[in-house]
Amino acid sequence: MSKPSFLLHVCCGPCSIAIFEELSQNFSVTAHFYNPNIHPAEEYAKRKNEVLRICQDLNIPVVEEEYNTKHWFEKIVGLEDEPEGGTRCVECFKMRLEQAAKYARDNGFEYFGTSLTSGRNKRAEIINPLGIQAGEKYGVKFFEEDWKKGGRQEMARQLIKQKNIYTQDYCGCVYSRLKKYPE
Ligand code: SF4
Repeated sequence: MSKPSFLLHVCCGPCSIAIFEELSQNFSVTAHFYNPNIHPAEEYAKRKNEVLRICQDLNIPVVEEEYNTKHWFEKIVGLEDEPEGGTRCVECFKMRLEQAAKYARDNGFEYFGTSLTSGRNKRAEIINPLGIQAGEKYGVKFFEEDWKKGGRQEMARQLIKQKNIYTQDYCGCVYSRLKKYPE
């Protein structure tokens, strides 16, 4: 019997490596790379290329959607000074989850989900309800999970080391970068 199809929105390699391994046991997984929040373009390319390398290794197809940074900046107007974890992040999650849900609906996927909840500072209680809402909007089932739990962080650490995966030191947008590297 064929496995159900699953579109996994992935934010980066380190957050998704252990999820790919786990989900592939029960689903036919496709990676969905839609992250117009990432700044600058060189960093975007680095994270994307790492996802492509991992997926090639695991034989997982990858969909890359447009790197439409203008659209991202429009979504977060007025929220530039919000702290990490605040309302700017909610808009940022929502934008990416909605695009994943739309792609999943348009391309006949049975489930969609996201690697976002595996991030150390990413709260599943904020992200999962946004995924459910996006799923309801587009009529696709959202796979609710907190990927930090159940020993997965340790598993991810081992795989990152084993496969020598590039790991960034800031969340992604220009504001999170400025926090790490003030000019
Ligand atoms: S800190 Fe991260 S989640 Fe928040 S807006 Fe920036 S890129 Fe998005």
